Amino acid sequence: MKNIEKYIRNVKDFPKPGIIFKDITPLLADPEAMKMTLEELLKMVPKDVDKVIGIEARGFFFGTLLAEHLNAGFVPVRKPNKLPYQVHSETYDLEYGTDSLEMHIDAIKPGEKVLIHDDVLATGGTAEAVAKLVEKSGGKVVMLNFLIELEFLKGRDKLKNYKISSLLKY
Ligand code: AMP
Repeated sequence: MKNIEKYIRNVKDFPKPGIIFKDITPLLADPEAMKMTLEELLKMVPKDVDKVIGIEARGFFFGTLLAEHLNAGFVPVRKPNKLPYQVHSETYDLEYGTDSLEMHIDAIKPGEKVLIHDDVLATGGTAEAVAKLVEKSGGKVVMLNFLIELEFLKGRDKLKNYKISSLLKY
């Protein structure tokens, strides 16, 4: 049994001083570690899901794999002006300023059960914005799932209304 944690590289001061970036590219580069990670993620998410959302860009990797294994559709949530069709948009606060995320208006149908996936849960602002996008479309968020949770940033406090699962906690 491989230790998944050892495939996460800590990169100091990226993208700015004081941040320790959790780099998942060594994990993506190792087929056995990828397979094991996917198996572990599948154990912690609901089986009855209509759509899996991956958040740009690192949420796309395991998001698509999860969707395929859950027999669900995959929906990308993207940064502004990347999606070609009409979008719902949600703006959220960053440490300095704001950012937005977009999703096609017809990506989630009313009543659909939606699993949201991303690589890292930090302050929770990103995941909260995506949950709001799902709700704008009439979908139900059944779980927020992450590879990595930075517990000291207390992202769960922002996401009290949702079920959350994460594979690696720091
Ligand atoms: P937040 O909205 O603060 O929860 O930030 C989550 C988003 O930022 C995710 O899409 C992550 O990919 C990215 N992120 C935040 N902190 C880190 C980190 N230390 N290492 C890698 N990605 C991060």
